[in-house]
Amino acid sequence: MKAKITSSSRFNKSPVAKIQPIPSSVPAPIGELLDMREVIAMLRTTRPTFYRWLRAGKLKGTKIGRQWRFRREDVERFLKGQEPQIDLVADITPLLDTLRKRLKGNGVGEEESHESELVRAVKLIIRLAAQMRATDLHIEPQPKGVATLRYRLDGVLQPIAELDMRLLPAIVKQWKTLAACNVHETSRPQEGRIRMKSSTAGEELDVRVTFLPAVLGEALSAVLLDPRAARISLEQMDYAEADKKRIQHWLGSPWGTVVFTGPTGCGKTSALYACLNQITAGPVRPKVMTVEDPVEYLLPGTTQVPIRAESGMNFGSVLRAVLRSNPDVIMVGEIRDLETLTLSLQAALTGHRVLISLHTSEAVTALQRMIDAGANPFTVADATRLIIAQRLVRLLCSKCSVARKPAEPFLTLAQKLARLGGLPWDALPKDFREPVGCKECNLIGFQGRTVIAEALEVTPRVAAALTRGATIMDLRAIAVSEGMTTLACDGIRRAAQGRTSLAEVMKTVSTIYSAELSEVASGGQQSRSAKGGQM
Ligand SMILES: [Zn+2]
Repeated sequence: MKAKITSSSRFNKSPVAKIQPIPSSVPAPIGELLDMREVIAMLRTTRPTFYRWLRAGKLKGTKIGRQWRFRREDVERFLKGQEPQIDLVADITPLLDTLRKRLKGNGVGEEESHESELVRAVKLIIRLAAQMRATDLHIEPQPKGVATLRYRLDGVLQPIAELDMRLLPAIVKQWKTLAACNVHETSRPQEGRIRMKSSTAGEELDVRVTFLPAVLGEALSAVLLDPRAARISLEQMDYAEADKKRIQHWLGSPWGTVVFTGPTGCGKTSALYACLNQITAGPVRPKVMTVEDPVEYLLPGTTQVPIRAESGMNFGSVLRAVLRSNPDVIMVGEIRDLETLTLSLQAALTGHRVLISLHTSEAVTALQRMIDAGANPFTVADATRLIIAQRLVRLLCSKCSVARKPAEPFLTLAQKLARLGGLPWDALPKDFREPVGCKECNLIGFQGRTVIAEALEVTPRVAAALTRGATIMDLRAIAVSEGMTTLACDGIRRAAQGRTSLAEVMKTVSTIYSAELSEVASGGQQSRSAKGGQM
């Protein structure tokens, strides 16, 4: 797959999506499906009588694998003496075959099992997702009688299988059973969790699943929690050597705030965990407390406190209690309000090491974001030691990528961004490579991801610029002159090493610098009103 998303093609797109009318031929959602035991109980009859009614065609069901399923509506019609509405025939075999073939393609066979086809289908969907290292999966009802199964692989959703829409209620019901949700509730959102063994190494799989009643039927999304995520080290985070040294230096400092920033899914949580693992690995283990919403992975050697808004345990109240517990190190998951931010900065100034995460596009915008949220600029400058802004970019598949000079627009853009970020373009080795796609990488051309980052130290010059209200561009220029390698330059360097493609990096970073790039193009003066991009 060769993605050619340039910043201009992104912006030229109309922001208003075309809304498709719901065609009248789309059948109403099937509603709740019952198994045979439930129908016999509902009809207050015996199994032989029930079979007689079934043979006589008074009641009709759908056979999924070897098991019967019945629409609640049809059973109610039968009780009123009415004819069954629809005879459903849906075959689960094609779905099972697709999943098995995919799993076999990934080098895993299916274990012998006496479970029903439905249970198997759900477990195969989860196991295949785990095998392919998907972060989340989605089953979505579509028009024309199908539902799609998609996995998010290295940050991009990929279609895996289509299933007969008539199977959807039974499959969703099976997911609900495994997730300990209410199987009779089909009209409200539900959340549950499934824990099961992967068939391969007996590894524990942990899946958080959400059911949503959509207009065409129930949609399902599941997040696969990776048990190895909690054990990640700074080494595995793959930061550039200079950035890693800065992180390690400030983690060892007795007080001050280290901020991780970036959009959702940029590896901030992994980075925070890697830092905490580094802190707790030493012979003298400090008291580490975390405030998280929710706690998804258990970190040994720490006290993790979840947010429970419904019982009054919000970030502010939990953080105040944490501070009274006399911790040495505090980690606060995403900062969402001024109270939490102020408490975190004060904690840093009163002798704590504080790790927080924010949601800004780059390191300098994190500084400005804290001030915009209402924090005192002097407090921000004094309490903040280091800001790491990061993204994840896909790594080229080592089996199929080819050496090729990137397209001219990408090279021009990269050159401009290198100049902005102080990266000597001419001295850069240029071993650029491009994706192809092979069996190994499921024809995607990429496999796995790595972090690209910038680490901004709040030096006296940066602090002075911040407190006198410098612009984003000025702040960035000062940070670069103080030794920061920008996100874009870190990405360009990795592309030049042939680890990722230049297009992949440009797609990820170009929106951050859109204001500067347009000025570079027009040769205009630096704007005073540069905004920080997405928040
Ligand atoms: Zn490949």
